[in-house]
Amino acid sequence: SAPSAASDAADQQPKKFPKGVVLGKDGKPCRSCTSFAAWATQAKDQTKKDAVPGSRAVSTAAVASGPPADCPPDVETLGRSTWTLLHSIAASYPETPSQTQRSDLLSFVGLFSKLYPCWVCAEDFQGYMARQKPQVNSRDDFSQWLCRAHNDVNKKLGKPQFDCSRWDERWRTGWKD
Ligand code: FAD
Repeated sequence: SAPSAASDAADQQPKKFPKGVVLGKDGKPCRSCTSFAAWATQAKDQTKKDAVPGSRAVSTAAVASGPPADCPPDVETLGRSTWTLLHSIAASYPETPSQTQRSDLLSFVGLFSKLYPCWVCAEDFQGYMARQKPQVNSRDDFSQWLCRAHNDVNKKLGKPQFDCSRWDERWRTGWKD
């Protein structure tokens, strides 16, 4: 399976949780850090052992189709939605931002990296920001920085690299014919 901070953390966990289930800092399984498949497996196990409150057994077919739309997000649903928000913020960022807009964006990205609900993702993202300072001088600078940041996570998860020269088409203008 793909290497990830999530699976690294899972490797260091007590055996009672299935592989891929990431614990939160409170020592309980962290739903927004864990894929739905791994979460459903542990929920099934827990149900057999007389369930943790809030856990339900989930069928194999349901696992394959991902978390129901009205359930708390897993690491993938949360990630997909978050990248959509971040790239959309970049798409609407001015070409020539004012000093206030630059400092607002820097504050936003800094706070985002502290508040992101998947803590393993957040810590890795903070590490990336420490190595690669966010570029907020223009829409192009920020979108390219964000594209590289997203590619850094893609690499860690074994996903394909996105061609950042096509960022504008993917997130702002739509694909050229
Ligand atoms: P996503 O990676 O969610 O991408 C959504 C869409 O964005 C893609 O379909 C593609 O069209 C486009 N895209 C892809 N790459 C780029 C790019 N470089 N630039 C612009 N557009 C692009 N998951 C973990 O398991 N472990 C982690 O440590 C982890 N860290 C994360 C850190 C952050 C800050 C965020 C926001 C998410 C993180 N995730 C992590 C979630 C992970 O990145 C994915 O969102 C999730 O695995 C779902 O992937 P996906 O294949 O649906 O596409």
